[in-house]
Amino acid sequence: MTLIVKEVTGGYSQIPVLKNVSFTVPDQKIIGLIGLNGAGKSTTIKHIIGLLKPKKGTITLNGVSFITDQQKYLQQIAYVPERPVLYPELTLQEHIDLTIMAYALDHDQAWQRAKKLLQRFRLANKLAWFPTEFSKGMQQKVMIVCAFMTNAKLFIIDEPFTGLDPLAMHDLLTIVSDKKKAGASILMSTHILATAQQYADEFVLLNHGQVQATGNLTALQQQFKMPTASLDDIYLKMTRDDRNE
Ligand code: ATP
Repeated sequence: MTLIVKEVTGGYSQIPVLKNVSFTVPDQKIIGLIGLNGAGKSTTIKHIIGLLKPKKGTITLNGVSFITDQQKYLQQIAYVPERPVLYPELTLQEHIDLTIMAYALDHDQAWQRAKKLLQRFRLANKLAWFPTEFSKGMQQKVMIVCAFMTNAKLFIIDEPFTGLDPLAMHDLLTIVSDKKKAGASILMSTHILATAQQYADEFVLLNHGQVQATGNLTALQQQFKMPTASLDDIYLKMTRDDRNE
């Protein structure tokens, strides 16, 4: 399952936030979307999931786009937003049932997968509770469970580690690795660069709504002429160059 973002220009108004953004999320790869605050990471994700429409350019997932077949396109994507989006009137159990309906999943198989995830995130005894009354981290875990219980081919996670304790962070990374092994692709935006460097196969560095560099760590080291640099060093270099502009 390959996501191709091609020459996308877009944003919230006539003034574009993204300018000619192109990158690929290849099959069975974890891609880290990296950039400073306001660089355009969340805006890029909003275009991919169809919340914003590109003014120019195209976004396709194995040849299917939001425009040509919205339902088919969206059912292949699971998304964990930066801030949890939960329904105040629904219990945890009802959030899971809603996910099953939205993705047209097999009820029993989906519940089996959900139960494993709920146990992992210590939510299994909270099915009758309302997630809007959970702590921030627990709410984030509900979003993770609802995304990772699907059969999506592409998982998009916006700032996945915000609010998660170290144990939950580790559990999420294990789940992400398992999904990759099972054939899925993952796009995650993050500021936790040491973790990104450890887990992501390739990176997309965004700056002022433009792709500044893409590739694995070796490719970035070459591009920035810093042969032994960490992702953190490269990110800081990008920031400094930015300030000196
Ligand atoms: P962060 O790391 O802080 O989450 P980001 O890279 O995800 O940053 P975006 O949220 O994509 O950044 O923001 C990119 C630009 O788009 C910013 O200049 C921001 O002001 C603008 N922007 C973001 N959301 C909106 C909105 N709802 N309406 C108008 N402009 C917005």
